[in-house]
Parts: sequence; structure tokens; C-alpha cells
Amino acid sequence: MKFFGKTEKAFFISRPNRFTITCTLNRKVVNAFLPNPGRLWELLLPGTPVYLEGVENPTRDLAFTAVAAERDGQRIVLHTLRANDVARHLVEEKAIPGIEEYRVIRNEVTVGHSRFDFLLKKGNRELLLEVKSCTLFSDRMAMFPDAVTSRGTRHLHELARMSDARSATAVLFLVHTARPDFFLPDFHTDFEFARAMADARERVLFLPVSVRWRRDLSIRPSEAKLLQVPWQVLEKELHDRGSYLLILRLPADNELSVGSLGPVRLRKGFYVYAGSAKRNLSRRIERHRRLGKKLFWHIDFLRAVSDFLVALPVRSEDDLECDMAGAMARIADWSPSGFGSSDCDCPSHLFGFENHPLSLRPFHDLLQHFRMERLVDKYALTR
Ligand SMILES: [Zn+2]
Repeated sequence: MKFFGKTEKAFFISRPNRFTITCTLNRKVVNAFLPNPGRLWELLLPGTPVYLEGVENPTRDLAFTAVAAERDGQRIVLHTLRANDVARHLVEEKAIPGIEEYRVIRNEVTVGHSRFDFLLKKGNRELLLEVKSCTLFSDRMAMFPDAVTSRGTRHLHELARMSDARSATAVLFLVHTARPDFFLPDFHTDFEFARAMADARERVLFLPVSVRWRRDLSIRPSEAKLLQVPWQVLEKELHDRGSYLLILRLPADNELSVGSLGPVRLRKGFYVYAGSAKRNLSRRIERHRRLGKKLFWHIDFLRAVSDFLVALPVRSEDDLECDMAGAMARIADWSPSGFGSSDCDCPSHLFGFENHPLSLRPFHDLLQHFRMERLVDKYALTR
């Protein structure tokens, strides 16, 4: 079944705000509405093909809606508003393992202060179904969410509370790629959501279902696949500790006096620092964000003269800091010697880049390796 009209291929340039992207279409620069609140960092890289649907109503500000992006030659649907149409179709086609016998009674169901996507029924038994659109994936693993969603966490708490003998509750994670076999809540990015999902495990049915989008943006329900949730990974890894990559921007060349390291010449550009915290990882990251603190670590001296761009936690029971530094060394443009590595044998834990690391595919591959792929190997996950 098709869910979209005719689309045109454009190329991503930038995302000036959450719901707008700028791209080139037939050599012209155009803006398009992006109906997706997620970060989409690893999908929307400069030059990425995106598929735009023309908007028929000309009173709308933007004449185009971005409905899909391309990754490795595959279409990945971005249109979260239409994910519900896809979900309804899959339910009606009995394509979702575990809820084949339910039928759709209503959509947009209000319960208490929250609205859920569907009310389904099987005989007298009701099922409240919430749909989440998932576009974050590596080769073998998909994760949700890609940004902190307190609304999503609240939904999980409410679904857990509402599940009882008469009515069941479920979350359908619609995974827009056929690649992965496994699904986990992204405990690196949204620790609270992951904890809520782990806590709700016995009360809420979690259904991560992947679909394969064809070139004409249609799917075949028979290809829908239920992904495995390896709960044992969460049991071991869901703690506020591990490693992180900190991205800073140094606005001008600088000669810094860095504590025990002495004077260090740093050229302007982007810097990635690999660090770790054996506990209170969130608090450690908050500390890096703050200015006006006592300068203690090497990185504090650089932070004092830089812009804080983002911190990317890699929660883990393992100490990955030096492995991550080693991997960064292979993709960085330069690396100031001895920075942040006085307690280990690494040449450095600081890496310089001409361009924003989040605009670079190798950087995302590295991050996804440590956040996702590594877990598949570590826990020897198999279908
Ligand atoms: Zn090291």
C-alpha cells in the first residue's frame, strides 16, 4: 500500500529549526516542512537525498513536506504524522505478531490527560495502542528515542498504570528499515524513557516492528518483522555510568595554559573529548556544560574558552573511554598530544575537526558502533 503522493528528490542542506529543512531541488534552494520532532542527526547529513511531497494547499507557508530520507540507498520515512496510517494498515492486515486478532475501534483515544493513538478490540478485550516512529538504527539494532522525550516517558507510565485484566496496553515502535533484528530503548540518550520501558515490561506489550519502504514509498504488510528486545542487555547496562563524547567549538586559535600539561597551542575548530564517569554520568556531563567552576581536568581549561555544543553519553558497565579515544584518533583531522590522557597510555583523549563532527558519517558510525553494534557482539545476540 502507498501512503504518499508523488515525491521529488532533493538534497539536504540544513535544518534551520525543528520542523523546517532547507534543501536543493532542481538546483534551487527550497524550504520544506519536516513533520518529525526527532533529532535525526545520523540521517540528515549534508547532501543526503530527501524526498519532498508537494503540498496542495497553497495557503500553507511551505510548499513542500519532507516525507523520507535516503540512507545506504534505502528510503527511510520521516513523516511521523502518517506513521499512524501505516500502523492502522498493519493492524488491519493482521501483520503485527501478537495482536493479529485485534481490530481497530477508534483512533485518537483520550484517557485522563493523555491521548493515545488507537483503541483496538478482540471480543470484549480492549487494547490501547500507542505508536512511535523509529528511524535510529545501525546494522543490527534499532533504538528509540533519538532525543529526550518526557512525553514518551509519561505515556509509558500511564500505559503501565492502565493495563489491567480487562484492557491491555501496547506500544508499537514502527521501525522504518528492514535492516536490524534487535530493538532497545535508547538508554544512552534518554535514560528515563529506557527505565520506564524496563519497569513497564510486565504490564505493557512492546512491539518493535520493522517495515521495508520501497522506492515508491509503499510497504508490504507481509514483510513486517517483529524485532527482538534483548531485556538482559538493559538489566546489565541501564545505569547512569559509562563514557561520553563531548563536542566543543573553539572560536579562535588559542594558546592555553593547561594545568600540569603546560602551554598548548590549539587551532580554532571543533573538538571532541572522550571521557568517562564510573558513576553519576549525567552529573559529570552537566559539570562540563557549566562555566565558572574550578579548573581541574585538562578539558576544563579548553571548555572555559569554547562553546559547549553537545555531550553524547555512551552508557555502559564497561570502561570504553580509551577504546573510543582510539577510534576517534582514526577519524580526527588532528589531535593535541597528551591532552586528557595522563592516566592512561593513549596519545590523547582530545580530537580536532575542521567540520562539525555531527555532519560526518564516520563520526555517526563510530558512535553507533559503541552505542548499538557493540552490544550485539558483547551479548552474542542472535535471532
Ligand atoms: Zn586512554
